[in-house]
Amino acid sequence: MSIQENYNAIKSSLPQHVELVAVSKTHPVSVIQEVYDLGQRVFGENKVQELTEKYPLLPKDIKWHLIGHLQTNKVKYIAEFIDTIQSVDSEKLIREINKEAGKHNRKIKVLLQVKIAEEETKFGLEAEEAKGLYEKYLSSEFPNILINGLMGMATFTDDKNQVKKEFLNLKRLFDELNKLHPLETLSMGMSDDFPIAIECGANSVRVGSAIFGRRDYSK
Ligand SMILES: *Cc1c(COP(=O)(O)O)cnc(C)c1O
Repeated sequence: MSIQENYNAIKSSLPQHVELVAVSKTHPVSVIQEVYDLGQRVFGENKVQELTEKYPLLPKDIKWHLIGHLQTNKVKYIAEFIDTIQSVDSEKLIREINKEAGKHNRKIKVLLQVKIAEEETKFGLEAEEAKGLYEKYLSSEFPNILINGLMGMATFTDDKNQVKKEFLNLKRLFDELNKLHPLETLSMGMSDDFPIAIECGANSVRVGSAIFGRRDYSK
């Protein structure tokens, strides 16, 4: 199927309340422009350098989401334009984003990345840590940052029950934090598991290869 067919099929399969983040990492700006021309405005990248190279070459009304691990010393390169940072996993990073966003008089949206996969993963907060961080944020002054949701990645497995269990765990945490103060976004689900994620309560999905095709890392 062509990119256009992939995109239209996914778009029309998503319930109205679910946001699609088109994950364009490794794909050239020409292809991103093609999907933009089909109406897509929210794109996700996982590397700061790749994002800062693509950003000036594409329309300015794109909402860029960073979905990969972010080092504090790189926040300054994206603070001027990033819409949402989905991969926030430390207080240090929250403070840095708040500081750099302030320099540009902006408010940057962030999601707390929570470890839900059974497999060992390097990045993400434990559920309790995420709760602690959210409580601290609610009682502090971070005028240039808005924590408005959670992001998680399920174990890479064919076991649908396992994936479902992990998504439901994150949904439970989302509901718990939502009671402290309302949150907007529950980002879970990728090309292989986004229908399950939506079933489990996701209202934002990050879809790459199902739109753009397989990534070629050899280029
Ligand atoms: C690459 C990536 C995706 C998209 O993965 P696909 O399987 O290509 O849909 C989603 N989320 C994160 C955090 C990613 O790094």
